[in-house]
Amino acid sequence: MRYLVAGAAGFIGSHLCDRLIADGHSVAGVDNLVTGSEKNLGHLRDHEAFVFRRHDVIDPIDWPEPLDFVFNLASPASPKDYHNHPMETLRVGSEGTRNLLELALRNGAGFLQASTSECYGDPLEHPQKETYWGHVNPVGPRSCYDESKRYAEALTMSYHHVHGVRTNIARIFNTYGPRMKLDDGRVVPAFIDQALRRQPMTVFGDGSQTRSFCFVSDLVDGLVLLSRSDERLPVNLGNPAEITVLDFAERIRAMTGACSEIVFRPLPVDDPQRRQPDITKARTILGWEPVVSLEAGLHLTIDYFGRQ
Ligand code: NAD
Ligand code: UDP
Repeated sequence: MRYLVAGAAGFIGSHLCDRLIADGHSVAGVDNLVTGSEKNLGHLRDHEAFVFRRHDVIDPIDWPEPLDFVFNLASPASPKDYHNHPMETLRVGSEGTRNLLELALRNGAGFLQASTSECYGDPLEHPQKETYWGHVNPVGPRSCYDESKRYAEALTMSYHHVHGVRTNIARIFNTYGPRMKLDDGRVVPAFIDQALRRQPMTVFGDGSQTRSFCFVSDLVDGLVLLSRSDERLPVNLGNPAEITVLDFAERIRAMTGACSEIVFRPLPVDDPQRRQPDITKARTILGWEPVVSLEAGLHLTIDYFGRQ
């Protein structure tokens, strides 16, 4: 099959390209490099099944070859990145998603939207099921990302209902692994970098807030399975193993053999207190669940950052 991956030079996008090529498909990668890096795709540069085009999907996009499937992963994703690029984040979720849906429509291709657990905001229901409508501050510091992604979900559903595009929506929960940006402010690269440099590890708030971390290879398996399914409504993809941020810091400190002090910093506004996916739906309709333990995934990630 011929795939187009928007956001190909990003953390998840580059792993998705690798997986699709390993499965024997051809892949067109598109990215404007606002938060991604061509280095993530360096190993594919001369691969005959891969082509890269630098393009901002906020501008209409056409592709010279026919396409069978479009993955939309294009968006700043870390809180630091979307704070730095609020307009770009709103526009890529709205205009960018529309341009990619139009591309899928013209090609008669399938389309998968990378959505997010941020659609649930600071959730009042725990764990989060797909049927929960969320608790989102529409004007807070996270709103440029959360509302952009919620709009993108609505647009994706409308292209399915109005134009019959075969769409999927993945609500992705915190995912980590090699090729995350060391300085994107997310907790995994931040803690590993601080621990490896033997610097203080910065826990925001009292560290009692929780997250559930999914290794990137598991997430990519879920995305591929979802793209082959007929499920049009959102599906949670994430690892249900929930951990507090403080326990997570201590875990990384122990695994790196660091003696870093843990220091407490103010909790960012609207930082979700608890987050854990209910993946019953993915288990049932895709036969998918994560298989990489936090221990194994962190070893691979620490090893990667150590080499950086
Ligand atoms: P990332 O920043 O590494 O990748 C996003 C990529 O999109 C980058 O390469 C960036 O340059 C590109 N991009 C942004 N705006 C663009 C535009 N206008 N035109 C073309 N390219 C553009 O982030 P990631 O963690 O790999 O996230 C990938 C997707 O998955 C995002 O849509 C994100 O919202 C979603 N997601 C990620 C997580 C996670 O934990 N990593 C969780 C939930 C959702
Ligand atoms: N966090 C932290 N220290 C850091 C970076 C993040 O304590 O140096 C916390 C953050 O407040 C949040 C959690 O770790 O509660 C996950 O943050 P991240 O930015 O990775 O993603 P989020 O899930 O908030 O989008």
